[in-house]
Amino acid sequence: MPQTETARKAVPPTGLSPSRAGDFLTCPLLYRLRVIDKLPEPPSAAATRGTVVHAVLERLFDAPAAERTPERARELLRPQWERLLGERPELLDLFPGDPDGAALQQWLADAEKLIAQWFRLEDPTRLHPAERELYVETVLESGLKLRGYIDRVDVAPTGEVRLVDYKTGRAPSRDFEGKAMFQMKFYALVVWRWKGVLPKRLQLVYLGGGGDVVSYDPDPADLLAVERKLLALWETIQRAVATGEFPATRNRLCDWCDHQASCPEFGGTPPPYPLPLLEPVPPAQPAVPPAASLPPARSAEDPTGDARRSETSEES
Ligand code: SF4
Repeated sequence: MPQTETARKAVPPTGLSPSRAGDFLTCPLLYRLRVIDKLPEPPSAAATRGTVVHAVLERLFDAPAAERTPERARELLRPQWERLLGERPELLDLFPGDPDGAALQQWLADAEKLIAQWFRLEDPTRLHPAERELYVETVLESGLKLRGYIDRVDVAPTGEVRLVDYKTGRAPSRDFEGKAMFQMKFYALVVWRWKGVLPKRLQLVYLGGGGDVVSYDPDPADLLAVERKLLALWETIQRAVATGEFPATRNRLCDWCDHQASCPEFGGTPPPYPLPLLEPVPPAQPAVPPAASLPPARSAEDPTGDARRSETSEES
């Protein structure tokens, strides 16, 4: 990409989302290329399927409770795909050389399986979401802006709040469950700081593999700990932005990274750093807080990362 084009689009980050926090902790260069350079990433079949499945689950709640059936959900699938295709015609490139539409049919059938799995995990006729695809944002006292989208917010008649996120990948192993829940704690912190309401329950609904529901009831100490970690992370990111130092860090997700051509770990060269350098490069030192304390943006078990949104554009 010509430098002028990169420079025109480059802007310093203005806040954190769970995905981008995970990017930096996984690989600072990945964060830079996505958030600052805003290098394009081709759509993937898995991520696009996640987008369509999420849209179906969201739209299903438009129907009266008794009509939220598997059949109704199946009927929504193709129209939601066609709506998305209308917005992003380039998605047709996901199915090259598919004159009889067999690859698209298989892709839709796989999406249908994920939706069928959801009906085994939750009963939408008994759910009454207060919000769907809710954009949340708050600014902490330090000035750090936190933001993201919550798939579903349920509010009990007694006022207790449950935050729910759908994952089209399989559930992580027990060892990685805590890291997977970080995203939900991030959202809980935003809601707590934004509305003064501490969510009672955080719930991840995994539609891949055999399907699973993972829940966690946070307390204030949990969320205060998340806040401290995010503040430390943001300081580290700010230093990196000022110095232009975003080291490439090899990790188990490199095989799925779209930026190997810009990555020294794979013989590539990053584009010239497009922001003004405000500080000299510091002596070599660990660039990030311990990665074990926060999750990667994607897991090896779900290399697509359920990255259903164009997060580089909306979550920086
Ligand atoms: S290939 Fe790996 S090391 Fe290189 S930018 Fe991507 S995630 Fe980072």
